[in-house]
Amino acid sequence: MSNGTVVALSGGIGGAKLSLGLLGILPPDSLSVVVNTGDDFEHLGLRISPDIDTTLYTLSDRVNPETGWGQRDETWRFMEQQAQQGGETWFRLGDRDLEIHRERSRRLRDGETLSAITADFTRRFGIAAAILPMSDETVSTSVATDQGELGFQDYFVRRQCQPSVKGLRFAGAAAARPGPGVVAALSAKDLIAIIICPSNPWLSIDPLRAVPGMRQLLRGSGVPVVAVSPLVGGTAVKGPTAKIMTELGLPVTPAAVARHYAGWIDGFVLDSRDRQYADEIQVPVLVCDTLMQTLADRRRLAGATLEFAATLAPSRAAA
Ligand code: GDP
Repeated sequence: MSNGTVVALSGGIGGAKLSLGLLGILPPDSLSVVVNTGDDFEHLGLRISPDIDTTLYTLSDRVNPETGWGQRDETWRFMEQQAQQGGETWFRLGDRDLEIHRERSRRLRDGETLSAITADFTRRFGIAAAILPMSDETVSTSVATDQGELGFQDYFVRRQCQPSVKGLRFAGAAAARPGPGVVAALSAKDLIAIIICPSNPWLSIDPLRAVPGMRQLLRGSGVPVVAVSPLVGGTAVKGPTAKIMTELGLPVTPAAVARHYAGWIDGFVLDSRDRQYADEIQVPVLVCDTLMQTLADRRRLAGATLEFAATLAPSRAAA
């Protein structure tokens, strides 16, 4: 594999797993992870950026391996106190996690950008990659459901994805711009590939795609864009991807995911358990095991995806 830089587009848990694999096989400072901020929200007076934090914790080996989010060996004194005082406890905030939210909130109030704060956290956590919020402007995902329009975390955490999804809206996206690091990473002369991680296409990747200019940056980069299927064996490994596809009237197949990304991708990584869908996919396909249970799995999938990307010419579709 030739030397060069790689950009990963990511949500939370699924995306961070593949990003960790990429980090493990690329030379230091060759990876940029562009992270969804549509899940960000204000809670208990704090600004919380769940997907950025999952990426920070995963890439610095602090993540709680049981949940895939939050820090390992976390303590919950703050939550206990909240509960005692009859406060809100539906969104679990561990004590160490809380400190990140407090510091981010303070610095945002003092006028720093989310990009600058995240870059500083990334450096302090000793991560040899760039973690880039998709935008410094606020974009808020809201979910139209059979129970009305819900804020993302109300839908995802408080109601545990139980309402039926009718559509999604990314408030603020039309006025948002890709973050400065995002523009730089996607315009880098030594960029060799862009990977759309196996994150939830509708909840995690679509907010990124809704930021004006993102498509031009991807297509204008002149490098192959490859998506990794978030469905394994016809269902999601974790989370509501399959449920949402059904509710939106789509077949729960990797081919439907590839169709969703039509015009954005040059290649698609399909799980071996789903090889029967290969013929339905309009772009070149790599069939391999995409289940990432161990660190070795993450690195193997990262390596296979980059090798596959190296065989693809980017489509010169009008940006
Ligand atoms: P969230 O924001 O924390 O929900 O996480 P993401 O959107 O990044 O990821 C959720 C998606 O990741 C789901 O569709 C899962 O099926 C997918 N996913 C999680 N683990 C794996 C894995 O090991 N392999 C593959 N192919 N997909 C995975």
